[in-house]
Amino acid sequence: MMDAARTRAWLTAAARLINANSGHLTALDTAIGDGDHGLNLRRGFEAVTAEATGDTPGAVLKAAGNALIDATGGASGPLYGTFFRRAAKALGDAPEVDDAVFAQALAAGLAGVQTLGGAAEGDKTMVDALAPAVTAFAAGGDAAAAAANGRDATESMTARKGRASYLGERSIGHIDPGAASAALLFQALCSVTT
Ligand code: ADP
Ligand code: MG
Ligand code: MG
Repeated sequence: MMDAARTRAWLTAAARLINANSGHLTALDTAIGDGDHGLNLRRGFEAVTAEATGDTPGAVLKAAGNALIDATGGASGPLYGTFFRRAAKALGDAPEVDDAVFAQALAAGLAGVQTLGGAAEGDKTMVDALAPAVTAFAAGGDAAAAAANGRDATESMTARKGRASYLGERSIGHIDPGAASAALLFQALCSVTT
C-alpha cells in the first residue's frame, strides 16, 4: 500500500542515498560523460525534499517531478521529472493505492522516460535499470536487486543515447551513471515498501 506519507518517505530515502553516493555518480559520469550526474541529482533531490508535499501519492510525485525538471541540470532532470510526473498522472487523486496500482504507475513513468528519451533496453541508459525494476515490482519480486542487476549489465554495453554515445565502443567497460542512480531510486523504494 502507498499513501502520501510513504511516497514522501520514498523520496526522502532516495535523496539521502543520492547525497551519500553523489561522488560515485559523478565519477561514473566523468568516465563516459561530463562529470556532473551526482551534482545534478543532488541539487534535484534537494529540491524534491523541499517541495514534494501533498495529500495523495499522485500529488507528491507530481510535485517531485516538477521540482526535478526545474532544479536538475542535464538530461537526467527532464527524464526523471517525466518519470515521476507520468507516474503521478496514472495515480490520479487516490489517497491510497495498493501495490498493483502503484506498479502500473511506475510502468507509466518508465513509458514516459522512453517516449521522451527514445532509449530502449540495451542502449546503456537509466532505462536498463528502470525497466527490470518496474517488471520485478509488478511481479512482487525484489525490484532493488533487479535494478542493481540492470545497472551492472550496462558495463558491457555500448552507449547509444546521451553523451556517452559520443564515445561509441569506448563506453564499454563503464557502468552508466543514470542506471546507477536509477538503482538507488529502487533501493529507496524497497526500503519503504518492504
Ligand atoms: P548530462 O548527460 O546532460 O550531463 P546527466 O549526467 O545528469 O546529464 O545524466 C546522464 C544520464 O542520463 C546517462 O547516464 C543516462 O542514463 C541518462 N540519459 C541520457 N540520455 C538519455 C536518453 N535519451 N534516454 C534515457 N536516459 C538517458
Ligand atoms: Mg552528465
Ligand atoms: Mg551535463
